[in-house]
Amino acid sequence: MARYLDPSCKLCRREGTKLFLKGSRCLSPKCAIDRRSYPPGQHGQARIRSSEYNVQLREKQKLRRIYGLLERQFRQCFARAERSSGVTGENLLTSLELRLDNVVYRLSLASSRKQARMLVRQNHFMVNGKGVNLPSYLVRVNDLVEVKEGSRQLAPVRLALEGAGSRHVPDWLVLNHHALNGRVQRLPTKEEIAVPVKEQMVVELYSR
Ligand code: SF4
Repeated sequence: MARYLDPSCKLCRREGTKLFLKGSRCLSPKCAIDRRSYPPGQHGQARIRSSEYNVQLREKQKLRRIYGLLERQFRQCFARAERSSGVTGENLLTSLELRLDNVVYRLSLASSRKQARMLVRQNHFMVNGKGVNLPSYLVRVNDLVEVKEGSRQLAPVRLALEGAGSRHVPDWLVLNHHALNGRVQRLPTKEEIAVPVKEQMVVELYSR
């Protein structure tokens, strides 16, 4: 499976904002965007002409990078959001938010979405009692996401939970800290998704 292998911090610098791709490092003084807030590369500090297309493209890239999707996967999510009833931009945010890797991250069972994706792929999680190793699996209301019995002492899960105090589990999820599981109690609202992206611009970009 294709994956993005360049340093994550480069992506934040390219977008000019923190995308929180590296767990606790993002909150530490080591964060690259705090030290070098200009885009990477030889011409990183040159002025960039800002066209409408460029602004829309940057919003799309930001959203795609926050959730760690490749272009093809992101397009598929968009197509699904477009086919659903309701507002396409909000459908897109909701379907990204309901991905299993994101839910594991939001429940503080992993310190970043990238780590959550890796843990899901390595088969450490169950949904409603059945093993699921697809990061793109879409959870539903009332689903129970839990760490498998044999994976409860995994260092990344334990470390993520220890650092959970500094993170807020959104109200649409309920974390059971001791049982290492979490339930989806309702769909997230747009306000709760709270990613620094204007999703309408992504819709406009793909509608060109
Ligand atoms: Fe982005 Fe985190 Fe790297 Fe900072 S530390 S640049 S927020 S990935």
